[in-house]
Formats: sequence, structure tokens, C-alpha cells
Amino acid sequence: MITYSIGMRTRFRGITVREGMLFEGPAGWAEWSPFLDYDDVTCVAWLRAAREAAFDGWPAAVRSVVPVNCTVPAVGPEAAREIVVKSGCRTAKVKVAEPGQRLADDMARVEAVRDALGPSGRVRIDANGAWSVDEAVAALKELGRFDLEYVEQPCASVEDLAAVRRRTDVLVAADESIRRAEDPLRVRELEAADIAVLKVQPIGGVRACLEIAERIGLPVVVSSALETSVGIAAGVALAAALPELPYACGLATVSLLQADVVTEPLVPVDGLLPVKRVVPDPSLVHADAATTAVWEARLDRVDELKGSAE
Ligand SMILES: [Mg+2]
Repeated sequence: MITYSIGMRTRFRGITVREGMLFEGPAGWAEWSPFLDYDDVTCVAWLRAAREAAFDGWPAAVRSVVPVNCTVPAVGPEAAREIVVKSGCRTAKVKVAEPGQRLADDMARVEAVRDALGPSGRVRIDANGAWSVDEAVAALKELGRFDLEYVEQPCASVEDLAAVRRRTDVLVAADESIRRAEDPLRVRELEAADIAVLKVQPIGGVRACLEIAERIGLPVVVSSALETSVGIAAGVALAAALPELPYACGLATVSLLQADVVTEPLVPVDGLLPVKRVVPDPSLVHADAATTAVWEARLDRVDELKGSAE
């Protein structure tokens, strides 16, 4: 059982440091890294996912590589173009609706990305819930001219997602609306999205995600929860096991961390991640004594909660 603490290259989700635990079971290495602002009850599903990785292993893969997207933050058009070209990915996710920016900024950025990828590339946008329904409909009318693959979380609430979906031709994906295992069913019930973004740790494991994918009957985009390569391997296992994988996955996120815990990080080559398990190098896993103590106590509490829930 080892604790890691790694700086983020840029502030993400309001955090500058990513922390978690790694442990090994008979099936391999697992990562448990619920965000620090999550309460113990929420962390139970994350622990279920880690236990699956360590003790049960993952279902058989039906593909040997997983296509992934690059991510373009709310930068100017020149920087956006450079990120896309450097990534080697054929799908780009472009951040839009950044506070303090205008639709014209989004237009310039998305246009540059479309231009860099050419007509055969895929461009999706992510508003992280920042638009109102009317803003989303108006923005999609403009941005739609760049042939969007889909818009991720245009508005914050599931109800608003459903409202946008009825007023646009652009496909809608639910991301932040899916935080817990029961959320995708509500998205389905309200017909709020065309695509579901699933993350292995919050949902409680690869099998739990596969079950949900089957129940909701929507195409799935597998995304990370900003893990090290050990956690990313679980996302890759899910993407590899899904019967259909029509969209590139959001698993190219290791580069958001300043370091990794393995010698060969799960970073894409030509837009593809290999399907494989990884083993951390203990010399690359660091945390100070205080951080380790916090995580060990957290694991004890959540483990006890998990035991009483099962
Ligand atoms: Mg998103």
C-alpha cells in the first residue's frame, strides 16, 4: 500500500496536487484516488473499483488499442492548433464557455482545431455546464458550422441538458451529470443525452460501468478521473471491453500530471493507447508522512463503510 502525491501541470478542477493510493492484489495493481473534497460515502464506489482491479481483474478485451482524444484548453487559436498537431490524435476535445471569454473566442479556437484536423478529424466541445439553455442553443447554432461530433455537458443540470437536446442537431453528451452509479439511469429517463461519459472509479469498477452501458443503451465515452497510469489502465480496460466503441476516449490525461508512477506511462502514440496492465516503480511513488497518514486513515474509514454496505 503506497501513497502518491503529484503536482498538476496546470490547475484543474481547482486542484494543483493529485493524491491517492496504489496497492497490489493477486490480479495486479490498483489505484484509489477519490478527490480530497469527496466524503467517505462517495469514496466507497471508488474503493470498489480499486478492489476489482487488485483482486478480480478485468473482463476480456475485445480490442488491443483504444483511440483517445487530445484536449484543447481555453487558449488562443494558434496555441490550439499546435496542441492538436503535436498530439497526433484524430479527435480533439475543445474547451468552450470559459468564464471571461466570449463566443467569438470559442469560434476562433474551434475553427483553428477543425482546420488543423481537416474534414476527417473529429471535433467535440466541452462547456463543463457553463451555459444556460438559451446560451447553449445560440452557441451551438454558430459552432455547429465546424461539424461537431458532440457537445459535452452544455448546461449544469440534467433537466437543462434535456432541454438543449430538444433544440439542437448537435449530439449531447452527459459528463458532470454522471457522478454516481445511479446517475446514468436518470440521464436516460429524461432523455437528456445521446452519449454517456463514464469514469471507472466513481461508478465503482469496470464491470459496474459495463452493466450501466448495457442498461442505458447509449454509446459510452470512457474518461479518466485524472489518475496516474495505474488508474488509467482501468479506464483502458473498460474501453477495451465495451462491445462498441464509436468515440475516442478521454484517457490521454497522464500528461496533465508533472510525473507518473510507472517508467512507461500510458500516453498515446498516434492517438492510440495500448491495452495493458502497468506496474508502478516504487522509486517513483512519493508522499510525505503527513499525506500518507491522511490517506491511510481515509482508507480505513472507507473500507469499514464499504464492509457495512456489503
Ligand atoms: Mg467533460
